Amino acid sequence: MADLDRRSFNRLLGTVVAAGLTSGVGITQFASAKGKGKARARVVIVGGGAGGASVAHHIKKNSKKIDVTLIEPSATYTSCFFSNHFIGGFRSMNSLRHNYDGLKKIGVNVIHDFANDIDPEKKTVSLKAGGDISYDKLVLSPGIDINYEAVEGYSEDVAKIMPHAWVAGAQAENLRQQLLDMKDGGIVVISAPGNPYRCPSAPYERATLIAHYLKHYKPASKLIILDSKSLFPQMELFEEVWNAEYKDYVEWIPGDKHGGVVKVIANEMSVVTRNGDKMKADVVNIIPPQRASVIAARAGCTDGDWCPIMPDSFASKLVPDIFVLGDAATANNMPKSASSANSQAQIVANAIAAQLTGRKLFPPRYRDTSWSLLSTNNAIKSGASYTAGKELVEQRTSFISDVKEDKRVRANNFKESLKWYDEITGDMFAKG
Ligand SMILES: Cc1cc2nc3c(=O)[nH]c(=O)nc-3n(C[C@H](O)[C@H](O)[C@H](O)COP(=O)(O)OP(=O)(O)OC[C@H]3O[C@@H](n4cnc5c(N)ncnc54)[C@H](O)[C@@H]3O)c2cc1C
Repeated sequence: MADLDRRSFNRLLGTVVAAGLTSGVGITQFASAKGKGKARARVVIVGGGAGGASVAHHIKKNSKKIDVTLIEPSATYTSCFFSNHFIGGFRSMNSLRHNYDGLKKIGVNVIHDFANDIDPEKKTVSLKAGGDISYDKLVLSPGIDINYEAVEGYSEDVAKIMPHAWVAGAQAENLRQQLLDMKDGGIVVISAPGNPYRCPSAPYERATLIAHYLKHYKPASKLIILDSKSLFPQMELFEEVWNAEYKDYVEWIPGDKHGGVVKVIANEMSVVTRNGDKMKADVVNIIPPQRASVIAARAGCTDGDWCPIMPDSFASKLVPDIFVLGDAATANNMPKSASSANSQAQIVANAIAAQLTGRKLFPPRYRDTSWSLLSTNNAIKSGASYTAGKELVEQRTSFISDVKEDKRVRANNFKESLKWYDEITGDMFAKG
């Protein structure tokens, strides 16, 4: 079926299934077929990161009779979360790496391959290495793709010279190495994108930790943030620490002054803003706009760059029997974070188990907490709780660190963040 036709078909079916889910209809043939010798229900998950690995763990933990297959190309997951700690010199790259042994041990069938395409009519996922896998319910948590076309002159090749480091691993190592190699007196430029994008506070945490590095190791150097926005999360808290600790090392220039970085000239190591200003630098960290990873569009789940979902289950609004979570999903004001993805995963796992086995359906409650490290033993945090509105995920409560907070509170925040990292990766990878 041609892509366009498939999209229209999916939209049609999606409307039908969405209507079914909201009216409480949703238990499939598997619930009624229980005990009649029918094949076990099959859940296939694409993407073994914060969302996908967590869904695999939670389905298998609670519903042993469901066959769970996780498709993930990499044998080792390298977390983006805490990669700023690595770039700033606070953590090793090795500490960000996790394997899938725990998930395999509890019975998840982990296939290290790339999902090339999805046929929602036949309910199959085709693999790069060849062969199709059929599903009863499909979960997509493929994360983001970098939108290279959004910045003129930027490409996968140029990203080796001007790394985005917005996908962890080699890109983060590249950026860290460039900082280590830079002469004292060098200029670092970070370009921050417009909303929405992966981890809203992360460009500012990164800038702060790079400033910390410059202050201690390259004190004649400076970092400039060319932002596409004129406001950013936890702004007052970041500005407080920049003024107090990094005054000579960080300058943030808001989008209303220049319009954001729209072009790069790699062989000159320069960036050009919308209003035509050109800036040359020694290290350039381009964080471009992003979109749901391409497999989501292949499945027909995207509307624009992201995937609309039902707020009570993260079922796709466009394609039946597909759930989309994590960064790829449009979750209203719930940030694109590992913390959000892990929380969404528990609701997705519950919704799928309810549909396939008749397991009790719990009312959806989501939450996220995000910490930003500012210097040694000094972290801030913010977070919120959410519930399902009729059309959108809706925020219920929220909290944020205070300015002028006691050092002991900030040190405790840092401790909490380390504990959170161990807990979330333990949960994602069933480390038991
Ligand atoms: C610098 C930085 C710092 C961050 N810090 C934090 C933080 O402190 N706290 C926090 O909560 N969040 C943080 N985040 C955000 C967090 O990393 C993401 O929000 C989270 O990883 C999203 O989970 P996901 O499952 O959507 O995507 P991912 O975790 O990226 O997982 C997607 C997986 O899908 C796989 N995949 C993609 N396409 C396919 C395909 N076709 N077939 C098979 N597999 C596929 C990929 O290989 C990948 O493993 C940070 C992000 C960055 C960039």
